[in-house]
Order: sequence, then structure tokens, then C-alpha cells
Amino acid sequence: MITRPKPSGRIPDRSIYERRESAVRSYARSMPRQFGRAEGVWMHDDQGGRYLDFLSGCSTLNYGHNHPILKQALLDYIGGDGIAHGLDLHTNAKKDFLDAFEALILQPRALDYRVMFTGPTGTNAVEAAIKLARKVTGREMVIAFTNGFHGMTLGALACTGNAAKRGGAGVPLSHVAHEPYDGYYGPDVDTADLLEQRLSDPSSGLDAPAAILVETVQGEGGLNAASPDWLRRIADIAKAHGALLIVDDIQAGCGRTGGFFSFEEMGFTPDIVTLAKSLSGLGLPFALTLLRPEFDQWSPGEHNGTFRGNNHAFVTATAALRHFWSSEAFQRDVRRRGDMLEARLAGIAAEYGFEVRGRGMMRGVNTGSGDLAGAVTTACFDAGLIIETSGAHDEVIKVLAPLTIDDATLAVGLDILETKIREAMADDYAVAAE
Ligand SMILES: *Cc1c(COP(=O)(O)O)cnc(C)c1O
Repeated sequence: MITRPKPSGRIPDRSIYERRESAVRSYARSMPRQFGRAEGVWMHDDQGGRYLDFLSGCSTLNYGHNHPILKQALLDYIGGDGIAHGLDLHTNAKKDFLDAFEALILQPRALDYRVMFTGPTGTNAVEAAIKLARKVTGREMVIAFTNGFHGMTLGALACTGNAAKRGGAGVPLSHVAHEPYDGYYGPDVDTADLLEQRLSDPSSGLDAPAAILVETVQGEGGLNAASPDWLRRIADIAKAHGALLIVDDIQAGCGRTGGFFSFEEMGFTPDIVTLAKSLSGLGLPFALTLLRPEFDQWSPGEHNGTFRGNNHAFVTATAALRHFWSSEAFQRDVRRRGDMLEARLAGIAAEYGFEVRGRGMMRGVNTGSGDLAGAVTTACFDAGLIIETSGAHDEVIKVLAPLTIDDATLAVGLDILETKIREAMADDYAVAAE
């Protein structure tokens, strides 16, 4: 099924990237091809290579590339000279999005949130969330967690654990305490107890927090999935200590873990929720911060941004909500396929002593070694499978296939992954035996 991406003939001159593109580029280094076209789960390079996409723009393309219904909605809108950029003006596209979001997402889940349109990337939504929590509570300190990832602007970066990313800040990253996530000290230590103890102890040195910021599954931090019990405890602790609970659902939301929100049916309601990545459904930049109405204490324009009205993204987001979220069918299918993914990964993990991580269609295997995981993902890419690593040491191979992938194609990709793991492990043994 996979066309092996063997460049044939003359490769066009690509020295422009070396010459002009900033050294900050990263994915382009591990996938050194030039891509032109994509549809569904497939990406195509300019040399005739075809790749199965198990990265999905880090969960930005949950409905696959260029979904025909979303694409057509945008083509129609542009063809009719619909507003493209509208600051935060009221537009037809914004009204349609809000109506659909209220009717298809909020009301069926009995959620009452105000919708704040932030700048278009995830980190904008996180900045808005922590700014608001500080404003509402009059407190400065935010509690974030080990291995958390929340974005690259200074406020969100301060909440991010990764040392290499933090090192780029150039100034002290302050007013955030990084507490141990669920399972950080192994299965026998309840880190919610530790947090409760530290917050209740007037001599612990931990200031009263404005917010507790948490991912239910840590996307970049190694697919650690918090238990519903732990998350409920964290929600209770936030409430008891006058802090706002912020769930960063930028990667785990929009269906990735099964429901539209990753915290559904867990028995707690966050005060603030951030969404971005797959919100537009077509890969267009679009982020939101959802606020419980009593915390919507902004004054007009207090938090601003030129690109808060990406109307093209409103159009595709609305089409995605109507197509995928009007019934239970899509969610049921994602859950079923997530179970299938788990079973396959569990088989691989059992064979090599790895550990399965994650939830829903946000899963992977912890290989215990960044070198091994990197060797496997590189070999996968050469075989036509785009797949990446995550975790503190890039030791977790992360499967983020489009949620719309059919079972047979999912199996094709997992076959490649399993083969490349087997080959890498065999190489390892060969080296060890020498
Ligand atoms: C990707 C991500 C962000 C940052 O989003 P950007 O669009 O890259 O700014 C924040 N939080 C989580 C959980 C993410 O996965």
C-alpha cells in the first residue's frame, strides 16, 4: 500500500533551506523531504513518495488532511467573498460557529462557558487563561506539572517543564511551581496528596495559587495519562484553595481521547479550558479560551490581538462540528479504534518489555530509550510512515493518526511500526553480542 519514497532521478536544488531558513526548524530535519499535496491520511512529496501520516500536525489534523466537506465549506465561503479577517467584529461566520459550538458541544454536555477568541495559536489561549486567573484571584503563582507542555510565549513557557525549551526564554521564568504529575514518583505515591499537603501547610513555602494548569494526557511530555480520580482530586484541591482549574485541552481535546473534551464524564468541570490544534479541523490557526461566566472579568480590549477573527477557521470549524459532532457515531468510532490501537500496542509492548501510554487515539509506547525510539521513527519514515517521539528523553513513540483513519490503514501503519521496532531491537542485540 505504501509507495516507498525513494527519490529517483535528479533531486531539485534545495539549498535555499540551508541558506535562508532559520536554524530553528526541527521537523524538517527529521523528515527531509519537500511535501506538496495531502489528502486524508496521506502526504505526498515532490518526488512521488507517499507517506502515511501518524503525526497529524501533532493532533492538528484529527479529521485528516483536506477533509472534503471542510474544504468545500471554505471554498464556497471564499468564492462568495466572505469576510477573511475581521478583528473581533461580529460576522456571519462567527455567529455560525458560536451557534454550532453552543448547540453541538456545550449544551449536550451541560457546560456553561463564555467563549474568548484569543490570538490564533495555542500558546495565546494559555496566556489568556493564566492572565485571567491571576486577574480574577489577585494571586501571582500558577501551579503546573512535571512534563507539562503549554506553549512557547513567556507565560506559557514558564508553565512548560522541558529544559531545552525553557532555556530559549532568555529571562527568568517565574511565578510558576512545577508539582509532580500523576504517577511521577511511581504507582505508590499519590501526588495529589503531596500537593494538598503542601498547599495546606502554611510553612511549605508554596504560595496560594491563582490557578492549577493541567493536561489530562501530556501530549509532548510522554503521553502520561492522569487517572480520573487524580484529576478529580486536583479539581477539588483547586476549589478548596481558591485557585482556578485550567485544563489545557489543546492536544487532547477535539476528539483525540474520544469525547470532544478530554475531561468528559470524569465528574468535574474546569473553570477555564484552552483549545486550539484541531479546532479548525483543516489545520487553520484557531484557538479559544473557554471561561465559566463568573470569571469573565475582562474589560473590553484588555486582552487583544489582531488575528482573533480568523473567519476561514470559523467556517471550517463549524463544518467540522456539524459533520462530526452532531451525533454520537464519530465518538463511538474513535473510542472503538482507540481500543484497537491499545490492543495492538499492548502486544508490541509485551514482546519487548515496553509500556503502553496514553488514552483514546492518543497513545504510544515507552521504549525507555530516546536513541531506540529515534532509530525506530527514522526507519519508519524511510518506510513511508510519519511518526514522532515525545517525553523527557524522546523515549516514547507517539501514534497520533487521524481519527478518521480506517481500521485497515491503521493496521498498515502499525505493521510498519512493529516491523521497525523488531528490526531495531535485533540490531541492538547484534551490537550487544559483539
Ligand atoms: C501544542 C500545544 C500548545 C501550544 O500550542 P501552539 O499552537 O503551538 O502555540 C499548548 N498546550 C498543549 C497541550 C499543546 O499540545
